[in-house]
This record gives sequence, structure tokens and C-alpha cells, in this order.
Amino acid sequence: MRLVKHPELIAAWPKPTAADPWIIMISGCMMGFPCGVDGTDYGFGGVLDDIAKRDTVRVVSFCPEDIGLGTPRTMPDIHGGDGFDGLAGHARVLDEHGSDLTDGMIAGALAMAAKAQEEQVRFAILMDMSAACGSQVIADGCRSGEPPPRQRGVGVATAVLARVGIPLVSQRDHRTLGLVRARLDAKFVADPEARDHHEIPWVRKNLPDDRVWPT
Ligand code: SF4
Repeated sequence: MRLVKHPELIAAWPKPTAADPWIIMISGCMMGFPCGVDGTDYGFGGVLDDIAKRDTVRVVSFCPEDIGLGTPRTMPDIHGGDGFDGLAGHARVLDEHGSDLTDGMIAGALAMAAKAQEEQVRFAILMDMSAACGSQVIADGCRSGEPPPRQRGVGVATAVLARVGIPLVSQRDHRTLGLVRARLDAKFVADPEARDHHEIPWVRKNLPDDRVWPT
């Protein structure tokens, strides 16, 4: 379930406290772990610190590609569909050399979902564009094409997390993350101009197809 489509969930969650914090799963790279394909955090470490570093939040960070493929690694992208299609066997994850990484991607995704269930996470904030963690826009085949191919869709790990019922949001969904921040901090003032990623003009113009998730 995408929180961008169900903001009422955020309002209904019990207020977090230090004794009963919100348990949030966050893509490992956004917590500063050097788990990107090139062994860095892509420069995203700390981008969610205002959410993650609160005594009313406990973070469970995870990198499904690191678990399933190792780090460093070649670049995985989904060919022929998105993460749901990959789980159904209708799409494959290939790297830039054409090697098939589908089995490792699914293994990492299953491990991420098992960790989320074990830790009883309330929701997950995931890095968009990733063939594992994407939830709004991902590459449509090899991302090194020109122009870079894009599609609305989810990564493989996101698809598995959705299947097991974990609410999801991407780091690009600024309107919805504002609702999260407002629940965590009574003094937070949401930007009325903030938009979720599917609401920005480029996505509305170029990728208008908002796929209904088969969950
Ligand atoms: S698989 Fe997810 S957590 Fe790992 S580097 Fe990619 S976006 Fe970050």
C-alpha cells in the first residue's frame, strides 16, 4: 500500500513515544551505509535524519541488493515490467552486461520483507529509482540508455514489501513525508506547495500511467 494514496493511515497511527516508538524501515543507503552499486551511499546518507534521529523513532535499515547480490556490484535494472512482474516471472532483472540478476534480487527482497515482519515495522521509506527499492518511478530496461528510459512502477523489494502489507513511501514524496513529519513533531509546519513524486509536472507529463498495484 502506498502512503501517497492512503494518507489517512498516517493520521490514524498512535502518536509515537520514546517508550513506544514508530519502527520505520529505511533503505540502507539513505541511512549512510555504503551499500550502493559502487560501494558508496550515493551521497544520500543523512537525508532523512530529521525523521530517523528522534527518540520516538527506531530505524530498521536494510539494503536488499547488498544481501542478494553483494557490494560492489553491477547495475541491476528491470526489463519487461516492474518488480511485481519480476515476481510473477514476466520480467527479468539484468545488469548492463546482460547478466541475469533476478534470483539474487528476489532473494534480497524476501530477506528485506522477512526483516520488516520480524521487526514489526510500521512503514518503510524507500529510495526511488532503484530496481529494488523504487516505488514511484524506475528505469525501463537498462538505465544507461539515451534518453534514460523511465517507467512508473516498483522495484522487486518494494513489490515483496507491498505483498506482505508494509505501507510504503519514497524519499521523493514530499507531501506525504510532510504528514509523517507533522505526526512526529507538533511544531512542524508542512509546505503547502510540497508534492509527491507522481504529482510533479515532469512525471505527470511524461509518465502519467499510475499503475494499480496487484496486491
Ligand atoms: S538496493 Fe535500496 S538500499 Fe540498497 S543501495 Fe539500492 S536503493 Fe539503497
